[in-house]
Formats: sequence, C-alpha cells, structure tokens
Amino acid sequence: MVNPPVWRGSTHLYDDVAHLKEGLKSNDDGHFFYGRRGSPTQWSLAEALTEMEPGAAGTMLYPSGVAAISCSLLAVLQPGDEVLLTDSSYDPSRSFADAFLKRMGVTARYYDPLIGSGIASLFGPQTRAVLMESPGSLTFEVQDIPAICRAARAADIVTLLDNTWATSRFFPALEQGVDITMVAATKYIVGHSDVMMGAVTTHDKYWARLRRTAQQLGQVVSPDDAYLAARGLRTLEVRLRQHEASALEIAHWLKGRPEVGLVLHPALSDCPGHELWKRDFKGSSGLFSFELKHGDDQSRAAFIDALQLFGIGYSWGGFESLALPVDPRKHRTATTWSASGALVRLHIGLEDPDDLIADLAKAFEYYHSAQS
Ligand SMILES: *Cc1c(COP(=O)(O)O)cnc(C)c1O
Repeated sequence: MVNPPVWRGSTHLYDDVAHLKEGLKSNDDGHFFYGRRGSPTQWSLAEALTEMEPGAAGTMLYPSGVAAISCSLLAVLQPGDEVLLTDSSYDPSRSFADAFLKRMGVTARYYDPLIGSGIASLFGPQTRAVLMESPGSLTFEVQDIPAICRAARAADIVTLLDNTWATSRFFPALEQGVDITMVAATKYIVGHSDVMMGAVTTHDKYWARLRRTAQQLGQVVSPDDAYLAARGLRTLEVRLRQHEASALEIAHWLKGRPEVGLVLHPALSDCPGHELWKRDFKGSSGLFSFELKHGDDQSRAAFIDALQLFGIGYSWGGFESLALPVDPRKHRTATTWSASGALVRLHIGLEDPDDLIADLAKAFEYYHSAQS
C-alpha cells in the first residue's frame, strides 16, 4: 500500500511475559507498547515532519496547536524561571503564559518583535526561554530569528518558534538556529479544515525532554486524525505555492485601492521586517492583514459581511478563504499598535484569485455606503 492503514487501538497484546518485559526497554516510535504511545499511523506522520526539518531529532504530535505550544513551554520551564515572549504572540500563547505559567511561578515578559539582537539586554539570571512567532499573529512583523537565537544560545537560553505561517517548507527553523519549532498543524499541514493538531520538532538537546513531558501530560492524537494530517501533508508543497501566488496577487491589488492603508504581508514593503523575510524565508503563505483607511468597527463589519466567497471564522490554512476583523491593540503590552484604521485579516484559499478580487471589489462598495 502507498499509505499506512488507520491503526486504531489502545491495547497491544504481547506473546508472553518475556515480550511484555522486552517492550519496556524502548520508548522510541516504531515499537508497539500501548495506544498512548501511538501506532504506525502516527509514527509515519511524525517521521515525515522530522524529515522536512533538517537537523531534527524527532517530532511530537499534540491534539491542537495550543497544546503543542503549552507542552513545549512546560518541557523547558520550571518555577522561578522567566520566559520572554514576542508582543506579537498568538493570543492563547499569551494567556497560557500570563495565567497558567504565572500560577506555576514562571514570570512572563514581553518584548518588541523587532528587537533582534537587542534581546540580549533583556536577559536576566532567571531567563530560561524565548518564544518567537514570525511573522507575528495579526500584524505580521518578521523577526530576526537568527540574531535572537545567537544571543540566546550564547546565554544558554532555549528558543522556541511558532512557525505555523511558514512551516518548515518556507522557513527551516532549526537551520536558522531555533531549538524548538512548533506548528499548528490544524492550519497548512492538515490543509482542509477538518482536523485539529499540533506538532513540535526539535534537535538532540531537547528531544528527550520534549518527549517525556508530552508523555507525562498524556498527549496523543487519534490515528484517524494522523491519517488525515498525513494526507494533507502530501499536497502541502503545491497548496502552499497556490496560496502564495494568489495571496500575493490579492495583496498587491489591495495595495492599489484608495480605501486601503497598510498591507501587512511579509513579502510587501509595508510589513515591518520585510527585509528579514527576503533574507530568511523561502516563500510566503496565504495569510495577511490590511488596514481599511478611516475604517471603524461598523464600516469594517459592513465590508466583511458583504463578502460572499470569504467565510467569517477563526483558524486558517484550509482550501477556503476567510476574513476576520482583528484588533491588535488589545493584545499589546510591550509595544503600542498605532495604525489608525481598522484591520482585516484575510486567508487566501485555493479559489480563483480573480473571483476573490471581484468579491473584495464589491465589498468596498458596501464599505463606502456604510461610511457615508
Ligand atoms: C491557530 C494557531 C495556533 C493554535 O492552533 P490550534 O490548533 O488552533 O490550537 C497557534 N499559533 C498560531 C500562529 C495559530 O495561527
């Protein structure tokens, strides 16, 4: 068979007591032990993700992207530690740090996503980890990942990257100096909006700790979900190329519209850190934001509600286009968001970009009526 079967099961039966004892000797993928340690369906997906990331020792799978992020932080932090998070972090990452980690005695401090090697000035005796996300959620600042990782490594501080936007395909994170790279596989890996999953890949130094923590926390994904994610992964390359081409076409079209201010797409010069994107990334994906000049909550709602081909909903990375009103001001503590217009985040799916542009053009008419 080309594909692994969906290998459902909790209990693995051993031939005899000697085999049962033998089974305790290895905790690697590839050995049946008990359902929580997976089956060939999950192992083959983890192996494929490891192969896509040069320098990787292994990949752990989690039932969501948020579980992947929180379990990775738990693997490297202990009470008394401090973690530095980019101010452009995905909001649930912030909540986990501000609520859960705080309760555990870990301090969270936020830094300017554009800080680069200046991060070293924030390191204190308790600083144990730096969380990066590049480009950032909602506002798409591209970070100087190599510079941040160099500074952290010199101080023996572990670096973690939320690499959901680029995936290892457009940003091979470990090669760029990152210790632990995480993706919400829910997005581009799965690619069809039908599974929640997270994946974390790391090198030798942190692999055993990451794996042990995930196992202690009981993290496991279903074989059915792993099958669908592996199926998605097979077309990742061609899907990403199409998301890239269509999103670029639409971002450039938006840039030429009189109603539009900033277009926050890493491949466009409006985007903070655009030069770093050119230097470090192998491509761009389908998610970006733009500013409705003079837009307010109500006119933005009129614009989004008028869209016929874009769904209104959370998540992204599937075949379908989505639009979302976003307000980064609410999620900032280390920096301030100063753009005066209203932001809209778009995910450009696999539809014909000309149809999507016609849909957006029509929505601008509703936007004007809502403003007058
Ligand atoms: C969606 C998302 C996550 C979380 O993934 P879930 O599978 O929804 O839990 C994490 N980081 C980023 C950047 C995301 O967009």
